[in-house]
Amino acid sequence: MNRGLGSWPARRAAISPDRVALVFGDDSWSYAELRDRITRLAHRLRGIGVGRGDRVAYLGPNHPALVETLFATHLLGAVFVPLNFRLTAAEVRYQLDHSGARVLIRAPECAVVQAPTTIALTDLSGIDGPPLDIDVELDDPAFILYTSGTTGRPKGAVLTHGNVIWNTYNLLVGVDVAGDEVTLIGAPLFHVAALNQCLLPTILKGGRCVIMPSWNPEQALDLIESRRVTWMFGVAAMFAALTQSPRWPHTDLSSLRCVMSGGAAVPPALIRAYQERGLTFCQGYGMTETAPGATFLEARESLDHVGSAGVPVFFTEVRVDGNPGEVLVRGPNVTPGYWNDPAATADAFTDGWLRTGDMASVDAAGHFHILDRLKDMYISGGENVYPAEVEAALFTHPAVAEAAVIGIPDEKWGEVGRAFIVSAAGSPPTAGQLRDHLVERLAKYKIPAQFTFVDDLPRTGSNKVRKADLRKLR
Ligand code: ATP
Ligand code: MG
Repeated sequence: MNRGLGSWPARRAAISPDRVALVFGDDSWSYAELRDRITRLAHRLRGIGVGRGDRVAYLGPNHPALVETLFATHLLGAVFVPLNFRLTAAEVRYQLDHSGARVLIRAPECAVVQAPTTIALTDLSGIDGPPLDIDVELDDPAFILYTSGTTGRPKGAVLTHGNVIWNTYNLLVGVDVAGDEVTLIGAPLFHVAALNQCLLPTILKGGRCVIMPSWNPEQALDLIESRRVTWMFGVAAMFAALTQSPRWPHTDLSSLRCVMSGGAAVPPALIRAYQERGLTFCQGYGMTETAPGATFLEARESLDHVGSAGVPVFFTEVRVDGNPGEVLVRGPNVTPGYWNDPAATADAFTDGWLRTGDMASVDAAGHFHILDRLKDMYISGGENVYPAEVEAALFTHPAVAEAAVIGIPDEKWGEVGRAFIVSAAGSPPTAGQLRDHLVERLAKYKIPAQFTFVDDLPRTGSNKVRKADLRKLR
């Protein structure tokens, strides 16, 4: 019996065959069509030798073919490895080799990369065959998901079917994903958030996924209105981009009941901009290794606990090692470890707890406040400085478009801050102006000693600043 995710489309199609599962451009797929396409693709993959435990990689922007490949892979008990199409060919090559992918399915625009068996999206048409029922257990690996690579080379986190199912339960306790949900998927599906917080919960409930090939705020507003979208996930930058669009004031948002953010703290002003339009905002903290939810702040709490990432998700334990201290997570959604990397796995766990590498404080009400990564924190004159806090204060200056702060060695203070600033269009600020701005907002020891103006910041494929590269710049 297939107890894993691969059985979901057929189970769903048995309940609601005619409901629309996926919308992409002008096309749509019902649950019955999705199930049939997945079965055909699974036969095709089986025909070229894919079996239980084999890795099937996918490279390309968001597309229904990614969804079909995911479920076809899981129908065979194989492991799905979605790759970030923004990576360089060498980076993709590393992940293909490291995961030992037997097959790569790729979009036409990603033709530069080849694997032992590469199937272009255009010849995905399957061959017919009977429904498949291959044994899959909850402890079998479902995904190898490469982390964003913010702190070093991406690590291949293994997520089992059980990990993902428990994450779905955790999510459903916090957000009432409904059977008639229309979910906008604008975040990339190679990343854990779009996969496990948007796509899979919606399919489980028999809702409809409106898939965008890539993020575009104007197009997103258009789809929200024309497709009557009811909820969406995004990072804070995506939600900010929507409010900055000239279309924002004129778009009918009445279908949306809730939006959900994760991956970084959400500025209170942004939450208010959505509340003014009658929308609630829920937020979460998590990571690839926790499939991804670790803490969750319900929408009704978002303004009572500004800056907080909420409380531990329902079935999972989350605590800090000291207060503030490193966040530790233990529970059924936590990865069994990194693929083919026993050293990294051993480093990541202490007594069964995942060490997240993130620093947080917990307030009297039990709410978590994520401070920054342990690796990015620095100590100036004996005081801990969390660059994320300094960056947030810099962002409130209108002439600052982007900011990143690192600690650098200093004879007197041990370490001091160095801020890298990308100026907003118009007249660039001076170091003195930024310092004056910060003095009103931050304790003295948190104010960077140096300000460096740059054209852009080095970023990962998922748009996070690579601080290690900034440290090398010195
Ligand atoms: P790598 O592990 O390769 O260095 P990464 O940690 O950026 O990359 P992800 O798993 O995509 O890869 O990101 C998880 C991280 O994102 C968390 O460990 C945390 O640092 C940050 N994060 C997630 N949610 C929040 C949040 N709500 N507030 C602040 N930071 C967050
Ligand atoms: Mg990480």
